[in-house]
Amino acid sequence: MTIFKEFTFDSAHYLPHVPEDHKCRRMHGHTYRLRLYITGALDPRLGWVMDFADIKAAWKTIEAQLDHRCLNEVEGLSNPTAEHIAAWIWQRLKPELPLLQKIELWESPSAGVVYEG
Ligand SMILES: [Zn+2]
Repeated sequence: MTIFKEFTFDSAHYLPHVPEDHKCRRMHGHTYRLRLYITGALDPRLGWVMDFADIKAAWKTIEAQLDHRCLNEVEGLSNPTAEHIAAWIWQRLKPELPLLQKIELWESPSAGVVYEG
């Protein structure tokens, strides 16, 4: 069974490799929305795949490195496209959440990325 949990974080960034006149070359911000999918067997006694609180706890340490920061200054995110941010999050979260199956990251209500490692 697959469960999911959503989080948001606010960050600034700019994209250094787009053309000079591209609007994303300028510093700007997003409220990113992240959805984490966790797939596993139901615990027969507890009746759940895993505790949502444990998902939140795993995310919190990573969130602290992104929320209210300029992403370009974060180690490994010098070109912080949604695709790179999703992969960055995956690399850090997967060891903490082995059942992590997929993440979805929106940088706006209509644009985002799906990443499965
Ligand atoms: Zn942007």
